[in-house]
Amino acid sequence: MSTTMQVMEFPLFINGQWRPASSGETFDVVNPATGAVVAKVAKATKQDAEEAIRVARETFDSGVWSRKKPQERAQVLVQFAQKIVEHAQDLVFLESVSSGGTIRRIGNSDILQIADLLQQTAKFAMEYSYVQSLPVVSFPASNNNQIWREPIGVVAAITAWNFPMILAMWKLAPALAMGNTIIVKPASNTPLSTLKLAELAVQAGLPAGVFNVIAGPGASVGETLVTHPQVDKVAFTGSTEVGRRIMQLASGTVKRVTLELGGKSPSIVLPDADLELAVPGILFGVFLHSGQICESGTRVLVHDSIYDEVVSRLAEAAKSIRLGNPLDPATGMGPVVSKQQLDTVLGYIEAGIQEGARLVCGGNRAVGAGLDNGYFVEPTIFADVTNDMKIAKEEIFGPVLSVIRYSTVEEAIQIANDTIYGLASGVWTSDANKALQIARELKAGTVWINDWHMFRSDAPFGGYKQSGFGRELGRHALDEYTQVKHVHLSMTSEIEQRPWLNILFN
Ligand code: NDP
Repeated sequence: MSTTMQVMEFPLFINGQWRPASSGETFDVVNPATGAVVAKVAKATKQDAEEAIRVARETFDSGVWSRKKPQERAQVLVQFAQKIVEHAQDLVFLESVSSGGTIRRIGNSDILQIADLLQQTAKFAMEYSYVQSLPVVSFPASNNNQIWREPIGVVAAITAWNFPMILAMWKLAPALAMGNTIIVKPASNTPLSTLKLAELAVQAGLPAGVFNVIAGPGASVGETLVTHPQVDKVAFTGSTEVGRRIMQLASGTVKRVTLELGGKSPSIVLPDADLELAVPGILFGVFLHSGQICESGTRVLVHDSIYDEVVSRLAEAAKSIRLGNPLDPATGMGPVVSKQQLDTVLGYIEAGIQEGARLVCGGNRAVGAGLDNGYFVEPTIFADVTNDMKIAKEEIFGPVLSVIRYSTVEEAIQIANDTIYGLASGVWTSDANKALQIARELKAGTVWINDWHMFRSDAPFGGYKQSGFGRELGRHALDEYTQVKHVHLSMTSEIEQRPWLNILFN
């Protein structure tokens, strides 16, 4: 495998080894900044998925990982973090040329986040309460009772294209820490960095077969994972539509499922907000990674008294965002991930115009200055948006901000919560008490006050409502990769001390 600008080649990664797809077929991965093919990747078949499941099952059942001491597993996670840092340059490159994310973001943030998550998870895994003894009680009898936390088994992780490494690591770190084996199916646009991570994990000492990666179409390979009886859990990040389908399919074998789905996250700007902070903060919240973040702050609700000023300051500040090739450290915003996504985003912009929203910034495909072959969209801001418009209701997944007017805090909260989603929300104000009161009313899994996109490895992330369920990151995530066993050891050795037997016997 090479990482030069020639077309790279990536096989599948199963049982600690690179191998071609059983059909011999490959598919192209395209750099969204240039439209050029950057890699040919083995296109897994249903048989390859079944082989990966067989390997993950056998590896789990062998106990080579699942029965290791937590400290030993933690040590491998820390070594994995070290490998990631050593190979950061390769990973940043692979992630950037496939997802369109800027190296400025991936190199300065994503790499640190995944290394930190592995280190934190290693620490949590050592502190975790794997065995809990219950107090001795007299009813129904005095016995020894324990609650054990055990790994679930084989996990299938299906990830989206916006943050391939981060989304994989949010599942990998807790799954591995708790002793599961895992098969990751990355999005077809962006399988490269996930494949590289699997190789690094084995170099870090992870036994072969614990972490497998198969790239291939969601509709066939993904569905094989979700329906196979030997897979115990599915962890998914992606669209709400596919999340619904996965939940249905997983019900056939009653798999555990965690879903991290779409969002239409609102922020409320109160009249006392410090606009020096709020204006760049709102733009950071919506335009980072060209708006392709599930928790992007895509609806901003602004009080009447400051509405016109906020709209004009947002439009003015957006002009300083520099579009360009994501491999250039000077670039602030790259392309959207694909031609298809470009068309989707432009379609939403057209819908906003048709529905009568006022375009105050952007609105077009960005061209010129080396952008023509890429899928770039100008940072776009609509004012006078009402919450019933399509651009305020649906997840666009592009650099499009809707600015909505409100008169009272009650009205703002009502508009903020008037969505099927509930991933994130926010408040911009100088009054911390008021912010916390509003946070209590917001129906979302995360509330950022005077900030956005601020993750930490020990704080849980996940959705309310149709944004999904289950939590990633933090100690909560470890629970999601365990199952609970109650073990009862009888301490009543004489039959006379077992009166419950009289319920049956005469
Ligand atoms: P999808 O939800 O379609 O894809 C996410 C992952 O699921 C990919 O790995 C995909 O594989 C896989 N997949 C697709 N269909 C199935 C299936 N039937 N069974 C199992 N796995 C499946 O997202 P898209 O990439 O198509 O993006 C579409 C929209 O989803 C975006 O415009 C955006 O609105 C939203 N989205 C939301 C994200 C979030 O974080 N909340 C992230 C990404 C997208 P493959 O790539 O091979 O199709």
